Amino acid sequence: MDRIDLHAHTNRSDGSLEPAALVALAKETGLRALAVTDHDTTSALAIAREVGRSLGVEILTGAEITARFPGRSMHVLAYGFEDREPALCAMLAEIVAGRETRNPRIVERLCELGAPVTMAEVRAEAKGDVIGRPHIAAALVRRGHVADTKTAFSLFLRDGGPAYVAADRVDPEEVISTVRDAGGVTVLAHPKQLRVDAPAGYEALFGRLAAAGLSGIEVDHPSHRTDDRALFGRLADAMGLVRTGGSDFHGASKPDVRLGSGDGSISVDYAVWEALRARCAASPA
Ligand code: AMP
Ligand code: ZN
Ligand code: FE
Ligand code: FE
Repeated sequence: MDRIDLHAHTNRSDGSLEPAALVALAKETGLRALAVTDHDTTSALAIAREVGRSLGVEILTGAEITARFPGRSMHVLAYGFEDREPALCAMLAEIVAGRETRNPRIVERLCELGAPVTMAEVRAEAKGDVIGRPHIAAALVRRGHVADTKTAFSLFLRDGGPAYVAADRVDPEEVISTVRDAGGVTVLAHPKQLRVDAPAGYEALFGRLAAAGLSGIEVDHPSHRTDDRALFGRLADAMGLVRTGGSDFHGASKPDVRLGSGDGSISVDYAVWEALRARCAASPA
């Protein structure tokens, strides 16, 4: 079996590793291919591809795109697209602009809640242009308001939590069609995190996204239990969607998740990428 990982972050979004270090880790881990899927940016790809070429790890073009969903966000994984395609770049820029209005609003809430941090402190936690809640959590930890990231989320930042602000600008259907127009395919990331009523809610949601052109469901994810995977896999099969999986590696900010294997329950074969690639309109980069 040729193992791959279809979901991993670098410090260009909220992971802790430099792109080159992530690719080196993929090599050490024995992965044949790695999709670099930073939140709302492709800025790690150029260096990742270069290092991938020298180490013999195939780097798959990817991104994890934040879409609008009531009360939380939906994460849509995108693969195999032309990452310089203008409409796709414009959509990512729009989503990042939404973050730039959202982050100060979260910071304002935190001040009201008695856990003040500044945007300068938040920005200092980030290495790239995409700033999100994990960077705000890191600033809260550094200020001593909370002991760790986990507590920052459970006390303040979690979806629907006291400092949560939803400010996503793009609907999932638009993400799906924009990626498709750029020659790529989309996969719904970790559906469990949407907390839809199972199973009817998931059936309706997957059906809606499949009708919009979605290609796959991330069935295997560290946050999914055995029964979740069974449900998502059954629905994916019934709707003709590719069953995928990934570790959602973030490095130090999620220390229990390992590249390629996640919590030990993730093992994805190269054939999964072949099934996705077959649905791409253009040949992948
Ligand atoms: P954002 O894109 O700014 O909404 O932040 C979402 C990111 O925060 C996710 O991709 C995770 O990396 C991280 N995250 C979300 N919920 C939690 C949590 N409960 N504990 C730790 N990290 C989390
Ligand atoms: Zn993340
Ligand atoms: Fe995600
Ligand atoms: Fe992710």
